[in-house]
Amino acid sequence: MKIMISACLAGVNCKYNGGSNRNERVIGLCAGHQVIAVCPEQMGGLPTPRVPAEIRNGTAVNAEGISVDEAFRRGAEACLQIALRERPDLIILQSRSPSCGVKQRYDGTFSGTLVDGSGITAALLIRHGFRVVDAGDI
Ligand code: SF4
Repeated sequence: MKIMISACLAGVNCKYNGGSNRNERVIGLCAGHQVIAVCPEQMGGLPTPRVPAEIRNGTAVNAEGISVDEAFRRGAEACLQIALRERPDLIILQSRSPSCGVKQRYDGTFSGTLVDGSGITAALLIRHGFRVVDAGDI
């Protein structure tokens, strides 16, 4: 099986704060399979560490009020192109991220409030018919 995952789940330090979201369950599930690790925010050109961002009124904005939507869309498109080329059987993405979140994301107020809905990359992959699972469900 071919599995695409958020790179931070594999322990890559690509998270906004310079850390990772290493997830032993996801790593265990990937054992013996072909894995493609992607970080849409880095692929969109954002640095690590970076100012955290959330989605407000449908666009990505960081905690300093600066739009990072263009970078988020570029990264999402890059992930989509890889997915279209590699045709992964399963995509597992990090929970609650404004890029990778599948089921929930923060509401754009930077107050820790969650709302239903996907991040920009997850939404794009779902729209194209890929099987996308939230890491929290593994
Ligand atoms: S954009 Fe996705 S892969 Fe990159 S750090 Fe955030 S959750 Fe992880």
